[in-house]
Amino acid sequence: MAKKSNNLFLKEEFRGVLRKSGYKATPARLAVLSIIKQSKNPLSAQGVIEKLKPDFDQATVYRTFKNLKESGIIRQIDLRHNHAHYEIANDKEHHHLVCIRCGRIEDVQKCGVEDMHSLILRSSKYFSEIRQHALEFYGICKSCNKNYEIKKISSH
Ligand SMILES: [Zn+2]
Ligand SMILES: [Zn+2]
Ligand SMILES: [Zn+2]
Repeated sequence: MAKKSNNLFLKEEFRGVLRKSGYKATPARLAVLSIIKQSKNPLSAQGVIEKLKPDFDQATVYRTFKNLKESGIIRQIDLRHNHAHYEIANDKEHHHLVCIRCGRIEDVQKCGVEDMHSLILRSSKYFSEIRQHALEFYGICKSCNKNYEIKKISSH
């Protein structure tokens, strides 16, 4: 019950966001946005399609992703999963830590890269302003590391 009212609230919020960006608040756009917003991690298009089945078909979801990307409300990020992931563009600045073995994703809150913006600009020929940066970190999660150790030991 609580989840449902939260969802309604989100949809109301995104209705405003879409209108402000000059986009119509279609049911598919509202559904995709609230699913991405409620997900702990950035979602793939396939992940969203699974969740919206059977209310919206695959073609509709892909078209919706295209529109939402154009609107700038969501952004595409590359987590080296061989498919794109999406998140709400103006949520709090953060980055991702990605396991190269199992794909686990964790948010990284502080990166310190803002401090480098002025340094980068000072050595730039053509730019006078940096507004955003994208940064993902790739490593091995604790559970993959542990399993690897066990495997390594048992194979000897
Ligand atoms: Zn993925
Ligand atoms: Zn892992
Ligand atoms: Zn950052």
